[in-house]
Formats: sequence, structure tokens, C-alpha cells
Amino acid sequence: MGATTGSTEVQLREQVVRLGRAMWERGLVSANDGNVSVRLPDGNVLCTPTGVSKGFMTPEMLPVVALDGTPLRGELRPSSEVLMHLRAYLEDPAVGAVVHAHPLHATAFAIKGEPLTGLMMPESVVAMPEVPLAPYATPSTSQVPDSIAPFVRSHTGCLLEHHGALTWGPDLMTAYLAMERLEYTARITVLARQIDGERQLSPERVAEVRRRFGIPA
Ligand SMILES: [Zn+2]
Repeated sequence: MGATTGSTEVQLREQVVRLGRAMWERGLVSANDGNVSVRLPDGNVLCTPTGVSKGFMTPEMLPVVALDGTPLRGELRPSSEVLMHLRAYLEDPAVGAVVHAHPLHATAFAIKGEPLTGLMMPESVVAMPEVPLAPYATPSTSQVPDSIAPFVRSHTGCLLEHHGALTWGPDLMTAYLAMERLEYTARITVLARQIDGERQLSPERVAEVRRRFGIPA
């Protein structure tokens, strides 16, 4: 069930609030956008409520839902986008946390409909070699979870066409840091293009990095 095993619900509630604040402070979300969820020790899912800024949540605000989406606890309604999170948990038992945001640069690529596939830095080769594009899906429909399902086992995040980005990982911090990296990748791609400098690592250099870090080609 991932590295969240061992943390109590109280600790996970506090961590979701802290990471929500970090997302808001870093501009990964605006207004009430975005949502965060984590698998609880009992197998249910703690998530962020609808209609609340991720920068100003308190631990008791967070609702709990079952893996099938049934609300179990909490006064506030879960985000309608939680269905997308639940699909990630159902697709891969190793997923312990999911983060959804609308980071500016990543969302620009999502609107354009261009996945992030450049390998311009060794870090990309090692940590996030590709950010695929999940095809557009009408909000609050089953199309949304269906659109991300093919990427859950093979990637750590994806762009959501005309919408934003989704990342996941074994625990909250890993899923959150994947979102930071995803947005950084989009931002550096924009900047490199602006100075006409979008240079890819050569295939030889990519192969050398993969060998060095034991990453299969
Ligand atoms: Zn959204």
C-alpha cells in the first residue's frame, strides 16, 4: 500500500494541509482549484473538500471516501475530481497518494495538447523522462478517470488536456514532489524555447545517464 503505511490518520490530515499550503504558495493552484488525496491505513481515502482554497485548509475539513467514491465521513463534500484520484488507487495498489493541480506552465502545455517528452537534463532522464497527455474528458464524468488510467502503472504523472496535471506516488511527499518536477519541466521547456535553446541531450548522453542510474531504455 506504499509508504503511507505507518502514518496515522491524524498525521496524514496534517500532511495534506501542509502540502496544500505549499501548492498554493508555489502557484501550483489558483483560487479553489486542485485537490490532494491519500490512502488511509484502513484502505479508505482521505481527500480535500470542494470549494476550499488548498492554502487555507484545516485538518478536520478533510472528508473520507471509500474506494468506490461513497462519502464516509466529514461535513464538507469531497471534490468531484476525487473520482480521478480513486481510479489511480484502483489501477495500482502501490499508489498511496495523488495530487491534482493547475500549474501555469504545465497547463499551457495541456491546453496546447503537447506532452512533455524532451530530455534536456539528466534529472529528466532519471526522474521524469516523459509526461504523457491524457485526452480531454468532460469534468465529473467517468471519461476523466478513464483518461488517466492507462498511465498510472507506467508513469508518475500526466497532463490533463485543456485542464491541468495529475501526479501520484507511494506517499504524499512523493506525489507532491512529482507535481513540482512536472511544472518545473514545463517551465524550463517554455524558457528554453523562448531563447531558441531547446537542445535535447544526445542519444549517447541519455544512454550514459541510464547506464549510470540503472534505468532500462
Ligand atoms: Zn482541476
